[in-house]
Amino acid sequence: MNYDWLDREGLIHLLTVKEDREKHRMFRKADEVKRKHCGPVVYLRGLIEVSNICRKDCFYCGIRKSNDHVKRYTLSEDEIVERALWAWRRNFGSVVIQSGERTDRVFIDLIASSVRKIREMTDGKLGITLSCGEQGPETYRQWREAGAHRYLLRIETCSEELFRKIHPDNEFHRFEDRLRALQNLQKAGFQTGTGVMIGLPGQTIENLADDLLFMRDFDIDMIGMGPYIPHQDTPMGKGMESLRTGMESLRTGMESLLPSAERFDLSLRMIALARIMMKDINIAASTAMQVLDPDGRLKAILSGANVFMPNMTPKFYADSYYLYEGKPTVTDDPMIVVKELETRLKALGHQIGYGKWGDPKHYFKRIV
Ligand code: SAM
Repeated sequence: MNYDWLDREGLIHLLTVKEDREKHRMFRKADEVKRKHCGPVVYLRGLIEVSNICRKDCFYCGIRKSNDHVKRYTLSEDEIVERALWAWRRNFGSVVIQSGERTDRVFIDLIASSVRKIREMTDGKLGITLSCGEQGPETYRQWREAGAHRYLLRIETCSEELFRKIHPDNEFHRFEDRLRALQNLQKAGFQTGTGVMIGLPGQTIENLADDLLFMRDFDIDMIGMGPYIPHQDTPMGKGMESLRTGMESLRTGMESLLPSAERFDLSLRMIALARIMMKDINIAASTAMQVLDPDGRLKAILSGANVFMPNMTPKFYADSYYLYEGKPTVTDDPMIVVKELETRLKALGHQIGYGKWGDPKHYFKRIV
């Protein structure tokens, strides 16, 4: 296998190959590439889920607009800043501010003023990533000027056909809008991240190979991807019974779901291949990996990931940001999770990049 230039055929082969020797060679190669181009370091991003109000109705997502079981919340500026300072005092390099999809003025200004306040109170030394969905170019510029410098917006799948199956057919869920938003993020000067869900019903291995090629060709700086995990209060997550009866569910064309061990294995391969193809980008070890395997995040790190995002949403709200079944509850002290991971990583020759932004080198090459 020529790892120096993986084409579609090579990717399909490596996503499906059964022989352990070849599989392990791929994981070893990913680890080797990461150590060479990024170092054996894992950067911390404290995740703050600032609002679960969402105007979208994605068929897979637990906080979709139509899920009436969700208690909706929005953190105040003080609460957001307090969480960021908590992370800052514990030597986190960055925070990630994430939310449902909202485009109202109150929300846009809340994000801008929170970002400014965090910058002011940490002397501009705490990195700020946003993950607040599709917005107009003006909003992206406003948030960039306020001081956020990274943005994560998953394309979810680069297959327009599959995208249409997992989203309602209306003006809030257009593939071309999501794509344009990603382009606008690059134009606004953000370090731009994207990603996909892996193991979606109806998704093919060819789709996943194309996702990897899409991310490479889009010149992406960061990837956050992980397995699809059902949520029972969503059209895609409901049992087969309701699939037969619910109109909306029928439209998703849900087919069978891969067993969790296979979804996990596929996700690990996607991370490894992304690292081999995109040597100097940042790749997150997503929380969803941990849901399918108790050592999921550690395994993701050993297969090429270099970013870890402990959840530090205030405990009172965190349970209402329930995207999929089994999403871990927030611990009283997220440092316990970090310290546990650090001990295990140390034994494997990795360290935590305390206090470092850990920007992807790729971004600086892309913008010259
Ligand atoms: N609204 C923002 C956006 O869409 O970019 C950020 C929040 S959204 C909840 C964050 C991500 O959660 C989505 O991009 C999606 O990939 C992931 N997600 C939602 N439901 C999921 C599920 N059932 N399984 C796995 N990931 C899921």
